[in-house]
Amino acid sequence: MTAKPEIIIVGAGIVGACLAYEASQRGLSPLVLASAPVAGGGSATAASWAWINACSADDPSYFRLRHASLRRWQVWQQQIDGIGFSARETFLWDLPADDLAAAVAQLTALGYPVALLTGAETAARLPRLRERPDAALHTAIEGAVEPVATATRLIEASGATVRQAHVHGLITKGRRVTGVMTGDGPVHADEVVLAAGNATPTLLQTVGIELEMQSSDGLLVVSRPVERFLEAVVAGPDFHVWQRADGCLLVGGSFGAYAPRPGLSTLHRNALAQLARIETVFDCPGPLEMDSVTLGRRPIPAGGMPRVGRCPKPDGEILEGLYTVVMHSGFSNGAGVALAALEEILSGTRTPEIAPFGMVPV
Ligand SMILES: Cc1cc2nc3c(=O)[nH]c(=O)nc-3n(C[C@H](O)[C@H](O)[C@H](O)COP(=O)(O)OP(=O)(O)OC[C@H]3O[C@@H](n4cnc5c(N)ncnc54)[C@H](O)[C@@H]3O)c2cc1C
Repeated sequence: MTAKPEIIIVGAGIVGACLAYEASQRGLSPLVLASAPVAGGGSATAASWAWINACSADDPSYFRLRHASLRRWQVWQQQIDGIGFSARETFLWDLPADDLAAAVAQLTALGYPVALLTGAETAARLPRLRERPDAALHTAIEGAVEPVATATRLIEASGATVRQAHVHGLITKGRRVTGVMTGDGPVHADEVVLAAGNATPTLLQTVGIELEMQSSDGLLVVSRPVERFLEAVVAGPDFHVWQRADGCLLVGGSFGAYAPRPGLSTLHRNALAQLARIETVFDCPGPLEMDSVTLGRRPIPAGGMPRVGRCPKPDGEILEGLYTVVMHSGFSNGAGVALAALEEILSGTRTPEIAPFGMVPV
């Protein structure tokens, strides 16, 4: 590889944006190719709840990645205007009180700054809360960002060249990827980085690599603005909500799959039910009206964990010049994964944060 390789990043969602910014921090000027502007919708990023967190210790390796990512976000937030948290700190009671206590103990043992609050303490910090939980997990270091604005600002700050172009496939020479084929013709580079979310498997198939996904739908409801009353990210068993700087609430249902593939009227009814639920949980400063609802598709590799790294062909041999990054929790993980990915692309060193999350041959 040349000292300053030419890099193409396919995708301008939050993952492509994080990679572009981290590349710029390593002195590179990537070319970002994307089928559509992220603000135009259609991407998981535009439909995201965009909470940046590390507050689950179920899998210590995954926790380590998310915690490293949160620290990287903190660095970037010092460097770039417009990507700060719009909602700061987390209050979480989506688990029974005993499980919450166990989670707090586990996270504390891992050095994560988290506390278990009583219901009264939670209510004191969330003055408009009507439904007081028995207990809540609290951490002050997490937050939520404005999803489209954050991806856009990261790409701007990277100085990357952005071109709207649909990539139809990868170009290879021997065991090496040498570029991509777009609707406008071929574009060549030393390194192609795929950050195309749910489209990643289709692009990998053009070079004979299979990537299994278990993507799921996620509902996001945006309210019309109301007077600002909520500074934090709040997640209960059947709702999660934070409030943007402009007063709009971002409301989601459960973190699991959105089960039935709904028709439009069902979607609308579900969205209104989510807003009604928030009105029972909080004493809102005014009635909540719906501004928009989206059904986004979370890009989730099979097994649920991120897939980050060089791509083995079915015979196990690595295809040079190609690097893939696809995951759910692209906001939480994006900064940390980008840091590790650029390190691997440039030095060949795979850091411990991403070591368990490589591409596996199918
Ligand atoms: C409802 C919902 C809530 C979520 N909440 C959270 C959360 O709270 N915290 C969190 O961390 N994550 C959350 N996620 C997940 C997170 O939003 C995703 O992991 C993340 O947005 C994925 O980003 P991405 O850049 O990989 O993909 P995308 O945002 O989908 O971007 C893909 C990019 O690739 C481009 N592209 C695709 N195909 C091609 C092609 N052939 N040629 C050129 N360009 C192409 C697209 O134009 C786009 O720019 C949520 C997701 C949903 C749907």
